[in-house]
Amino acid sequence: MKDLREEFILRSGETLLPGFRARAAAFYGRPADQLRLFNGILAAARAAMPELNSACAAAGIGEAGCASAEEIKKVPVLRRETMTAGRNRAKGAAMASLESGGTGRTGRLRTALSPSGVAWRYADLLAVLKETGWRMGERVSALHPEEYGYFRNFAAKAAAGAFGELAFGFAQQYLLYGLLHNRRDLLYSGRIFSDDAAARALLEDALADDPVLLISRPDALMAALKAWRPGDRFRRLRAVLTVGTALGATVREAAKQKFGAEVFDMYASTELGYVGLTCPLSGGLFHLNASSCLVEVAGDGGVIVTDFNNKLTTMLRYDTGDHGRLEPGPCPCGRPGPLLLVDGRAAGLALNAAGAALREIDIINLSFPEDLPFFQLYAGQDGRLALRLPAREAGQKQVLAGRIAKTLSLPYVPQASAGLRLPPSGKFCYLP
Ligand SMILES: [Zn+2]
Repeated sequence: MKDLREEFILRSGETLLPGFRARAAAFYGRPADQLRLFNGILAAARAAMPELNSACAAAGIGEAGCASAEEIKKVPVLRRETMTAGRNRAKGAAMASLESGGTGRTGRLRTALSPSGVAWRYADLLAVLKETGWRMGERVSALHPEEYGYFRNFAAKAAAGAFGELAFGFAQQYLLYGLLHNRRDLLYSGRIFSDDAAARALLEDALADDPVLLISRPDALMAALKAWRPGDRFRRLRAVLTVGTALGATVREAAKQKFGAEVFDMYASTELGYVGLTCPLSGGLFHLNASSCLVEVAGDGGVIVTDFNNKLTTMLRYDTGDHGRLEPGPCPCGRPGPLLLVDGRAAGLALNAAGAALREIDIINLSFPEDLPFFQLYAGQDGRLALRLPAREAGQKQVLAGRIAKTLSLPYVPQASAGLRLPPSGKFCYLP
């Protein structure tokens, strides 16, 4: 018998937004007329942003929009700075206003979503969860940085008058995720990256929760895998779903072996929604969400995304700051391409001794199997590399710096200092 909770959600969604049920049914291989969807967002953006309208007119793009995929490349790229200034906000009623950022690059970002934008995103999330093999009502454990804990932020948000956001957060976390999805958040602090006991406690929480699906950022997953001991066993776990930073192939393989589950990696963000999802055969490449967004990769490898679902905050050719490439496909699973590879952030590039770029994913793949402590590698203003290590490693920081330099084939042993720098989001990065 079909789960009643699932039927309740699908029926409610379909009533609010025809097409919801079909959208929630599958993530991979969605058909979409991307040129038509792009032109719909472009028209709204041109009406709201006079500078964009003039730039499009000057580039010869007619009122009807772009005539081809080639012409889309003439539409100016939206930079984060423009968004931070709020110049891409169209008029209309927002149901949710979401805040992202926390990496400290250009400040935090607010993305407003209309009710239909929220509903389409939710349908995309249901589709992602379904592709992992999870069914409505089965236990989900989500490893969550305590910085995002609902009650931790409640007082500050209430003081700032953000009652709409609080109501939305409560509905999402406690009614929808808690009761309907049967999801539990397991909160952790940044100490899991420097304290073995904290990482072990997080893994034990997850084991005790006995989930069917485990959701985590790759960094917290790495900490949990490092804390794994022979004899640990997830009894019912079928899938691990990661999102947030680069997931290395070595981490994916370790999770498959130690946790005995299939691993799915999702390319998603607060400002863009659910952009891509790997499949068990795609080798870490993302199948793209063709009905919700257009993904392009610029000549310099910058990943550019247009969100078709957001009519309030124009996310038109948005420069994600990520670096990657598109592969034509098809995927070994038989579905057509293009497939997206994301290998890290575009900025803060480190080079190895041979002069080759060391992206976040390369650093993870090389260092994760080596039983090194978590570290952060910086390319400073002058281009010199610097290392940060957990405070407890202060005594042997030069020895570790030597080992890390050897593991990554760095051109020299970088200057090392003790103490990891975690941003307000609690996100750990190899290359901040
Ligand atoms: Zn595939």
